[in-house]
Amino acid sequence: MATHKLLLLPGDGIGIEVMPEVIKVIDWFQARGVAGFETETGLVGGSAYDAHGQAISESDMALATESDAVIFGAVGGPKWDAVPYDVRPEAGLLRLRKDLALFANLRPAICYPALADASSLKREIVENLDIMIVRELTGGVYFGEPKEIIDLGNGQKRGIDTQVYDTYEIERIGRVAFELARKRGNKVTSSEKRNVMKSGVLWNEVITALHKREYADVTLEHQLADALGMQLVRWPKQFDVIVTDNLFGDMLSDIAAMLTGSLGMLPSASLGEMNPKTGKRKAMYEPVHGSAPDIAGQGIANPIAMIGSFGMALRYSFGLGDAADRLDKAIADVLASGLRTADIKGNATSTCSTGQMGDAIVAALDKASA
Ligand code: NAD
Repeated sequence: MATHKLLLLPGDGIGIEVMPEVIKVIDWFQARGVAGFETETGLVGGSAYDAHGQAISESDMALATESDAVIFGAVGGPKWDAVPYDVRPEAGLLRLRKDLALFANLRPAICYPALADASSLKREIVENLDIMIVRELTGGVYFGEPKEIIDLGNGQKRGIDTQVYDTYEIERIGRVAFELARKRGNKVTSSEKRNVMKSGVLWNEVITALHKREYADVTLEHQLADALGMQLVRWPKQFDVIVTDNLFGDMLSDIAAMLTGSLGMLPSASLGEMNPKTGKRKAMYEPVHGSAPDIAGQGIANPIAMIGSFGMALRYSFGLGDAADRLDKAIADVLASGLRTADIKGNATSTCSTGQMGDAIVAALDKASA
């Protein structure tokens, strides 16, 4: 039985409340002999700042680098609003992404039939939706130089951000998208703004050439990012895998998030380059939501995004697609049974706690394997 090293970083707020529910699931798979997991737990965000004066300590960074996957909760909260900028809670998350070189952000948007009424769109538009947004995470306008505000000396200032992509960055994110599509619906939609941006022209050329050279068996289409935003709310089921840059991916994945009803349902994965010697890649798995200070400490957070993030680790880091399918089915079964946390209450008459939702998912795993 293979043993995988996990670093658990619960973080702050509801991150601390949803992580124990993942541990129940990790323990379940371990007890069933599906895989061995060696877990370490560290601090990140405000809790790390309180302990060490840093958003993540060097020793926890070393553990993250040595791990096969980081399982991350959420960071932030009003308690740390006034801490210095470079040690603010989010700095821990950004350091992990940067030092582990996690360039590919995978955000599935899945709408379980039992939750179709929680979406702001009509049931027939979103029911059984299953799309994957692949966002480039370490390049583009969020990182390009120059990035500054300059004083023009005439009472005016100029804010500058630089959108910049090199061929290799577009190729490696394109590969992630094409490889994923081959295991799903075999279709990739690439998105940019080539009508007004040079980086969009290059993006389009590189993805087209990569497709022709290595992935001609996959269907490829291109959509301008503004049109794609419109299509996502008009008829999202036309998409399988969407690949786009850092800025457009940020926006389009949040639009897709709303299709599924609640932030508490959305997992994500961030992947680094494959090491050709070991066949492994650095990876971090985290819910899309934040630390939710408005409900933290009440035991009512939805743990499904966090548990689903571990499901993505099973699938994308450990090659345990069957186990991931079992976990996805357990979540769907629990939702079909009518159990609801407050954020997905809909028309339900009662709601359950974070712990009750985690227990129900483990019980559904038990039931399905009995
Ligand atoms: P948020 O995601 O924390 O919360 C937005 C809304 O969704 C809140 O009403 C919250 O109660 C609800 N919500 C989120 N997750 C939920 C869950 N699992 N179950 C039930 N309800 C849930 O976003 P925010 O309020 O904009 O930010 C709060 C803090 O989190 C800020 O400090 C922000 O910087 C930080 N943040 C961190 C991350 C991260 O760690 N990756 C991401 C986003 C925001």
